Amino acid sequence: MSTIDDLCRYRRETALLAATEALLGWDERTYLPPAAGEYRAEQMTLLAGMIHRRETDPRLGDWLGELAADSSMADPRSDTATIVRELKREYDKKVKLPQALVEELTRTSVLGQQAWVAARARNDFASFAPLLEKMVRLKREEADALGYAECRYDALLDSYEPGALTSQVTRVLSALRDQLVPLVAAIRDSGRQGDRELLSRRYPLAAQQEFGRRIAAAIGFSFERGRLDVTAHPFCTELGPHDVRITTRYDERHFPGAFFGVLHEAGHGLYEQGLRADQYGLPTGMHVSLGIHESQSRLWENLVGRSRAFWRYCYPLARAAFPEALSDVAEKDFFFAINDVRPSLIRVEADEATYNLHILIRFELEQALVEEELSVADLPSAWTEKYRHTLGLTPPNDADGVLQDIHWSAGLFGYFATYSLGNLYASQFFETADRELGGLAAQFERGDFNPLRNWLIERIHSQGRRFSAAELVQQVTGQPLSHVPLMRHLQGKFGELYGLSPANGARAAGG
Ligand code: ZN
Repeated sequence: MSTIDDLCRYRRETALLAATEALLGWDERTYLPPAAGEYRAEQMTLLAGMIHRRETDPRLGDWLGELAADSSMADPRSDTATIVRELKREYDKKVKLPQALVEELTRTSVLGQQAWVAARARNDFASFAPLLEKMVRLKREEADALGYAECRYDALLDSYEPGALTSQVTRVLSALRDQLVPLVAAIRDSGRQGDRELLSRRYPLAAQQEFGRRIAAAIGFSFERGRLDVTAHPFCTELGPHDVRITTRYDERHFPGAFFGVLHEAGHGLYEQGLRADQYGLPTGMHVSLGIHESQSRLWENLVGRSRAFWRYCYPLARAAFPEALSDVAEKDFFFAINDVRPSLIRVEADEATYNLHILIRFELEQALVEEELSVADLPSAWTEKYRHTLGLTPPNDADGVLQDIHWSAGLFGYFATYSLGNLYASQFFETADRELGGLAAQFERGDFNPLRNWLIERIHSQGRRFSAAELVQQVTGQPLSHVPLMRHLQGKFGELYGLSPANGARAAGG
């Protein structure tokens, strides 16, 4: 056996364990009876320990060291080079973290999340502050152990968006903000509003379930190689090369929640189903980054699912599925309702335009915490100030303000940026696909999503980790990542909906 064969076999065995752990995790979040939680935690902890030991096994370091000098590495885009490079990057990161720090982070994350749940319920930031302070301290230690190019935050960002630099992300997000804030203001001043009441009529649960499955299948999600189940906090997970699980939650009085949730998770699922199954568990068969993963979900949720062409196809089906709610509603009114832009306090309820402003606020605040420019004690007032300044709203309390997201309590610093990166990548990919496929709107109107799906599989999914996220964007679109395609999309769609003058909205973004 050659060294590369040894390495791949070892890695595939680790993937078997990881998929088993993922299955236990999926079951925990969908069907596990309440009393079984403790034993399940023991099962998952045991597996996580086994996986971690395998991932930091010195044999891996030896194989990777040997292969780094191998002639098969000459072409950096070859499967072998991709596998060795990416596994080495991952291995080097893992062995840099002291075992004691890893354990302390895990423990603080569990306690932090429990404290966060209680603090949020009681609207009591002070009771959560000590754990958050500890978490921030540990994340700084983690960054210092990992090392970084320009600033500490780089090291944390790298865990979710490998290779991305804070300075680059800041440049793109700031350019986005400079055009987004005036657009949101122009929308507010337009005097127009979508009729959101249409979306809180009665949409029977069984009909929502059937409709969601039908549309997920229409965009190409394979139910032969996946399932859709119900959960409290929707997610997508893969349990093997032919087993992708997506989840949603239903509310009879809120149509968009489950429907766009299904499109979003099906977008993640399509990425997993589009990876090379024969490379399962290897970097050649894995997603590039969280930002690229999110680009696939946002593309189907927003650029397809909230487009006029999509609803030309889908609205008659929706009307047939929900006659009680929609029989007297015109397509254009429904379309406006699902695209209504209104500044709000809660990120997960935000519309397509203001969503990125919620992310920008978190991106800046968590950087300031990690770089020791902001103390945890001052975080709530900094949060309030940013919401007032950016969205023109003042949170009435911490539960609807700084305590609304689980991320910081779980130690997920550097994660938020990937949501906006996903929106940016999605728009840039979509523009290119639209150009290369000769106008997607006409295809959507016919309910034909195959050309787009196949394009995504070929250009993005099947590439695995051959390219970094930045390289992939350049490779696929011929341009580096930019705010322009997303702004062009938002200004075009909302300029028309809100009747904005070209100066405010419909103008194509410059720069
Ligand atoms: Zn997502």
